[in-house]
Amino acid sequence: MFLSLLVPDLHVESVYDIDLKQLKARGVRGIITDLDNTLIEWDRPDATPELVRWMKEVKEQGFSVVIVSNNKQTRVSKIAEPLGVPYIHQAKKPTQTAFRKATRQMKLSVEETVVVGDQLFTDVLGGRRMGFYTILVVPVARSDGFFTRVNRAMERLALGWMRKRGMIPWEDNNGQT
Ligand SMILES: [Mg+2]
Repeated sequence: MFLSLLVPDLHVESVYDIDLKQLKARGVRGIITDLDNTLIEWDRPDATPELVRWMKEVKEQGFSVVIVSNNKQTRVSKIAEPLGVPYIHQAKKPTQTAFRKATRQMKLSVEETVVVGDQLFTDVLGGRRMGFYTILVVPVARSDGFFTRVNRAMERLALGWMRKRGMIPWEDNNGQT
């Protein structure tokens, strides 16, 4: 059913909490990641030193990475190029085109790839409906643009609905979202 497509396989505080060794052990070799509020704040113009270190670590561990963002090229390239990471801008998530393109670029299957992002209606929905293992992170930013705020209001509604029906697996342990 539709709402189960909004439930990520894993929910972590930030990308830095993703257990890369565990992913590798599960056969994952590629990471499709969102940019804004996933890797850095939507209004931060450059990568943080922490992000630079993490990307280096991810590559050293042998993962392929593609940044897949709905934002425009000027924004996405400014972050991705200095990091030396390929990107797809104006990805129109949750549609499938950019996800397919990313796996083709990495020459990996859906099963070998995870999708990481901060939004249910773009990253999680887009990843889940194609069968990717999907990791939701807590948004990095404190303030959001208008459309993201609207999206978040809908996310809260959907999460409340799912919580009532016991559909939120990560709440089984600690009662927090
Ligand atoms: Mg985002």
